[in-house]
Amino acid sequence: MLRIDVITIFPELFEPFLSTSLLGAAGRAGGLEVEARDLREWTEDRHRTVDDEPYGGGPGMVMKPEPLVAAIEAIAGPKEPGRKARVVLLSPQGERLDQEKVKELAAGSHLVLVCGRYEGVDQRVIDLAVDEEISMGDYVLSGGEVPAMAVIEAVSRLLPGTLGNPESARTESFEGGVLEGPQYTRPAVFRGRQVPEVLRSGDHGAIARWRRERALEITKRRRPDLVAAGGEDES
Ligand code: SAM
Repeated sequence: MLRIDVITIFPELFEPFLSTSLLGAAGRAGGLEVEARDLREWTEDRHRTVDDEPYGGGPGMVMKPEPLVAAIEAIAGPKEPGRKARVVLLSPQGERLDQEKVKELAAGSHLVLVCGRYEGVDQRVIDLAVDEEISMGDYVLSGGEVPAMAVIEAVSRLLPGTLGNPESARTESFEGGVLEGPQYTRPAVFRGRQVPEVLRSGDHGAIARWRRERALEITKRRRPDLVAAGGEDES
């Protein structure tokens, strides 16, 4: 059972996302519970302020430490050895998310995703309350909400009950260090382009070999870094 709490100033963004079928399936199977928590609940002033001007000047606003640290500690407990929850700040300065990291996150029992906004969060939040920072890639978004949804969706695919066919998680890109090869469905001919004969042959051995060859081919061409990092070779 994995519980995910998301700390955000836009909890309403998560409502339609969380009610989609894939996540619903994991929830029904009892493997996943997700809750979006409104950061403003941990503010103490009349205006429910979550941001302030940056020390040293500069554009934009910075997320204040008090509500964020209070929210994280209320949900995850204080940052100390043995804390059960794993607290992740979504940040362009973090480690880039990959399938290995997704597996690691899916193996835990409590994940807390902290969504930044504005120009980011006060460094003391990271020092005092966050375990790690995760990035979606080398580009800058306006907030951590879309990255948090990406983490939730990627993690949920690995939990029991999410995928109709558990085999699909085993054959997907990045399993065994290779990308998945091309896929086809009906019709057998579309605009003059034929589905490869082997896929219609019924010869499961030949189909498996063909898929493997195509997977290796596409991985070498598009992602030589995966091959160099120890992805399976043709042997
Ligand atoms: N000033 C920050 C910088 O230059 O690194 C960017 C802040 S960004 C506008 C606001 C928030 O969006 C961040 O605190 C983070 O939570 C989220 N964010 C933006 N890009 C992201 C990315 N590539 N991966 C994960 N989170 C991201």
